[in-house]
Amino acid sequence: MSLRFNALKNLSSLPSIEVESTPKITTIFSSNVFTLKTAREFLSDEAYKSLVSSIRSGQKIDRAIANQISSGIRAWAEGKGVTHFTHWFQPLTGSTAEKHDSFFTIKSDGTPIEQFEGDSLIQQEPDASSFPSGGLRATFEARGYTAWDPSSPAFIMEIGNGKTLCIPTIFVSYTGESLDYKAPLLKALEALNKAAVDVCNYFDRNVTRVTPTLGWEQEYFVIDEALFNARPDLVMTGRTVFGHSSAKNQQLEDHYFGSIPERVYAYIRDFETECYKLGIPLRTRHNEVAPAQFEVAPIFEEVSVAVDHNSLLMDIMDRVARRHKLRVLLHEKPFAGINGSGKHNNWSMATDTGVNLLAPGKTPKTNLMFLTFFVNTIKAVHDYADVLRASIASAPNDHRLGANEAPPAIISVFIGQYLTKVLSDVKERVGDKFDEQDESMLKIDIHKNIPELLLDNTDRNRTSPFAFTGNKFEFRAVGSSANCANPMTVLNSIMADTLKQFKKDVDALIDKGEKKEIAIMHVIREYIVASEKVLFEGDGYSQAWEKEAEKRGLPNVKTTPLALDAMVTDKAKILFESNNVYTHEELEARHEIELEKYIKKVQIESRIMGELATSHILPPAIRYQNLLATNIRGLKEAGLPESACINQKQILDKIAEHVNSISDLVEKMIEARKICNNINDTRTKAIAYQSQVKDKFFDDIRYHADKLELLVDDKEWYLPKFREMLFLR
Ligand code: ADP
Ligand code: MG
Repeated sequence: MSLRFNALKNLSSLPSIEVESTPKITTIFSSNVFTLKTAREFLSDEAYKSLVSSIRSGQKIDRAIANQISSGIRAWAEGKGVTHFTHWFQPLTGSTAEKHDSFFTIKSDGTPIEQFEGDSLIQQEPDASSFPSGGLRATFEARGYTAWDPSSPAFIMEIGNGKTLCIPTIFVSYTGESLDYKAPLLKALEALNKAAVDVCNYFDRNVTRVTPTLGWEQEYFVIDEALFNARPDLVMTGRTVFGHSSAKNQQLEDHYFGSIPERVYAYIRDFETECYKLGIPLRTRHNEVAPAQFEVAPIFEEVSVAVDHNSLLMDIMDRVARRHKLRVLLHEKPFAGINGSGKHNNWSMATDTGVNLLAPGKTPKTNLMFLTFFVNTIKAVHDYADVLRASIASAPNDHRLGANEAPPAIISVFIGQYLTKVLSDVKERVGDKFDEQDESMLKIDIHKNIPELLLDNTDRNRTSPFAFTGNKFEFRAVGSSANCANPMTVLNSIMADTLKQFKKDVDALIDKGEKKEIAIMHVIREYIVASEKVLFEGDGYSQAWEKEAEKRGLPNVKTTPLALDAMVTDKAKILFESNNVYTHEELEARHEIELEKYIKKVQIESRIMGELATSHILPPAIRYQNLLATNIRGLKEAGLPESACINQKQILDKIAEHVNSISDLVEKMIEARKICNNINDTRTKAIAYQSQVKDKFFDDIRYHADKLELLVDDKEWYLPKFREMLFLR
């Protein structure tokens, strides 16, 4: 029996996996995290103070203190049954990395002991050569090391009965180049902090720190594990490269917010519990638009913590799914014809005085502060739309952005009708020259009713890639499998840069003798005019918008190899270097890594497509052909007239056509790959893979395979069908 039928047969007899009822969340929340509260308990006063000041100011911890901290952490971890520790980091492969070492060691006199030294806490040397570096280590120094990042707390990861102490780290080369997602992110957050504090001080001298905040919304699919295993394309690439859409998919719109199926519900509760123990503040769970699609979202947190938590969540979701004989699909487009998955990044900035800088205030003065940050964000997105686009470019996201059932590849900003009106008022009422009358502008009345109106759901636009949603911006074009660090690094860098320029522009006017508030209003007006072409309130999924965007001169780059160009323009190099986020070399290296990732992903998809076509699609088709041929021959031998086998012949004809087309196209695709593989320049090779392999063959081969799926006897078909994966569990 084929894997498919085995899987289908077993589905109904699967034992249900018992999940304990969720305990009161507050009783388990952060129980596996070395929080400051825990640190207070396990560390001496001196060590505790040093840890706190290092978290607050990024100060280095000295060796002697590090030893105290590491033994405190070990005491806590051992109390929970931990035997091993690992430096946990986020390499550019996109997943998380860990190499476990035990506390166990043998002293020089042969005594076995358990210890965790300060040195092991602060620094480790994983074998870096097998992580992507874009040539950086070749150029600089062969080794890389992981360094403790005290701003993220240590945590204990439970896998089955094993428990591992994880030390969050950054991953850098010996000469200091970043080799991971986290190091540049921390730099971008610092750049934003400096620039934003400077601008805040126009309004409030008490602000000394600005912390960007992130609340992600993770979309995902869940399917049965045995069905997953019978789909080599899912196993290898995370998406189905073949499969005809099922008779019913999402057209009835009956899945969104519907009741969560029981088996998935048990799974969700199980991974949520694991997340709570790790301090991930999950808040929302619901069905998404497509069948078998769901979403999970936490309460927002500081960006760096939120990024860690999302990476951890993806890891946990995957592990826990296996316990339930399910598989979670984090790919951006696992199934053609229905919605893909994104990861909305809700972003704002908070001051240490407790103000959300993107929430309209209660007085005209605080409104001016809101307007400043609001307009600067629009300006940043306008000026650096291409860099922002590059930050979310990946092979899997190409199946979504600018393709079907997804936001376009055009970066535009939605702000809603009320703020559109406010901006146009500002534009009209502030003249080029200032006089006394302009002071009236400072009394912009957004505080009266706008905050309520802004949070009103009727003024939401679901098709915008970057939307203002009342007290935060929501960057929606991020892919579901992406590490949020990359888009967050870019967003915070471009915002930092724009705010720095804003301060220069305002100060220049103040130096000329202008009153501070008037100067600010003037620059705001200038920025509104300069960036208004990025504002769009209509349907982002429509053809009309593509045309309109082109007229406005907005970039619309649909493929990753070209979108990535924006990372290495002079503009990008100046941006990242002047904000101390990436050096030119680091940017070039990252560009190279992203291109290579793209090439490999398309190459793997192409290979699996070719392999499945010949080993899974053609054999059942050919067997069915034989059956039909035998049938026709038999009818003729029995003396029946030609007319008796007209239909069989027609089917046979169609099958023959699809079978021939598939073999022909697969051969040609292999030839095309060979040509691509001989190209040396990475960018040219990536473009070739996209245009000469993916675009030229994928849809065509799939078309014929999916037609065969409809023609061939169901009992002959190997690959689980969409209706089985999406509706049975
Ligand atoms: P929706 O967008 O689905 O209507 P909400 O507006 O309640 O839902 O929030 C969606 C996400 O936005 C949540 O994950 C939440 O944590 C996050 N969020 C809310 N406020 C902020 C903020 N100030 N900064 C960052 N994220 C935020
Ligand atoms: Mg949302």
